[in-house]
Amino acid sequence: MRYISTRGKAPELGFEDVLLTGLARDGGLYVPKTWPQLTAADLKRLSGLTYAETAFEICRLFTGDAFDDATLKTIMDEVYGSFDHTAVAPLKQLDANLWMMELFHGPTLAFKDYAMQVLGRMFDHVLAKRGEKVTIVGATSGDTGSAAIEACRDRDNIEIFIFFPEGRVSPVQQHQMTTVLAPNVHAIALEGTFDDCQDMVKALFNDADFRDRHNLSAVNSINWARILPQVVYYVTSALAVGATAERPVSFVVPTGNFGNIFAAYAAKQMGLPIDRLVVATNQNDILSRFLSSGEMKLEGVKPSISPSMDIQVSSNFERFLFDLYDRDGAAVTEVLTSFRESGSFAISQGMLEKARAVFDGYRTDEAGTKATIKAVYEETGEITDPHSAVSLGAARQARASGEIGTEMPLISLACAHAAKFPDAVEAATGIRPPLPARLADLLEREERMTVLANDFGIVSSHIAGIVAGKENAA
Ligand SMILES: *Cc1c(COP(=O)(O)O)cnc(C)c1O
Repeated sequence: MRYISTRGKAPELGFEDVLLTGLARDGGLYVPKTWPQLTAADLKRLSGLTYAETAFEICRLFTGDAFDDATLKTIMDEVYGSFDHTAVAPLKQLDANLWMMELFHGPTLAFKDYAMQVLGRMFDHVLAKRGEKVTIVGATSGDTGSAAIEACRDRDNIEIFIFFPEGRVSPVQQHQMTTVLAPNVHAIALEGTFDDCQDMVKALFNDADFRDRHNLSAVNSINWARILPQVVYYVTSALAVGATAERPVSFVVPTGNFGNIFAAYAAKQMGLPIDRLVVATNQNDILSRFLSSGEMKLEGVKPSISPSMDIQVSSNFERFLFDLYDRDGAAVTEVLTSFRESGSFAISQGMLEKARAVFDGYRTDEAGTKATIKAVYEETGEITDPHSAVSLGAARQARASGEIGTEMPLISLACAHAAKFPDAVEAATGIRPPLPARLADLLEREERMTVLANDFGIVSSHIAGIVAGKENAA
């Protein structure tokens, strides 16, 4: 399998290089050159497999010669064997044709574990093979950082530095990062906002000397290896509800960076019987506005009770845009350059129809999110986190508009455990959701973090000092 950049100017790479490179050299994102196809016979065979076996079968279609079969199998067995539900991504039926897919059974209680855990092991394996080490730097507003730390802890060839805005992440999110005491994990509370954290990461990457000296790497969702393992749960859940070409399934995906829903799109391109893909947004609704008007227009980010979706520029949308423009990298470059300059762009009516042939978009505002948490609890007894509620809010709207018929199996993604956002859930239901038993003492565990000023010199010498100390000790 070869990968090409959405900007059309970077070299074609194999999986291993795509994994280590992340962002393409021309500023684009890597996508598979062709989509492997799953026939009806393949799907029938997959429907008899466990989650880890399915993950192996799907991922090996994309990983080329990066791993031998035994290694890839071991990675999947280790990762998904440690999740706290034997189905890994279980479905809960809410009404005759509506299911909620629970994607919070990994170590940090959000769906990012499903790919990040695989990514951490893939990195370590490839680095060991090459005799290299990397320094991973990342910014987080909460979920990504903890998932990345859990995935990279105790890995021999990785030092990981995660920046979060001091005092601006929830206590559960903070403790998930700061109570991991592994010597290669460095949680940094930056005196600033999430944007400052992101700018700091960009500044570290833009310092070519620093980047090369420390072999900097990133684990954000522009990395194709973050998307790939997410394809798996679309396959397992579609098969679980008995989807066939005659009776396809539709999905609703709470969307921020467009990574998760792009994995659904990939599954559809591979021949999985999927009809509609519904983009669920909160009050930061740039994507749902785009899908109704054809215009992508930036507005300021408005903080919400579903913070992991408080995003304006969805980095992975570029991967879909590349297909909309018939894989013309020059056209994608042009449209995104003008978007960066002017804050908006519009596609043609024909392209909008092409996009709408696959995607719908629905927005659920703050009041709607709270009302959905309450209504779902009263009607089904299920306690949902605000992100999952935004998804269910979109599911209801898609049904009410007739866009999704009531006879169509519909799966709405639950991307975080309610206990990660206890205040919003308690306000809507009167119930404070407890953490799972294995994390019950999380808030009492010993924390380790470094508070640093939002200053490039201070931050870069902090990192350099730690990495140099490790090298001297080795
Ligand atoms: C990251 C995240 C999202 C957004 O997913 P994208 O892949 O960025 O679209 C939604 N909900 C939760 C709980 C998340 O952690």
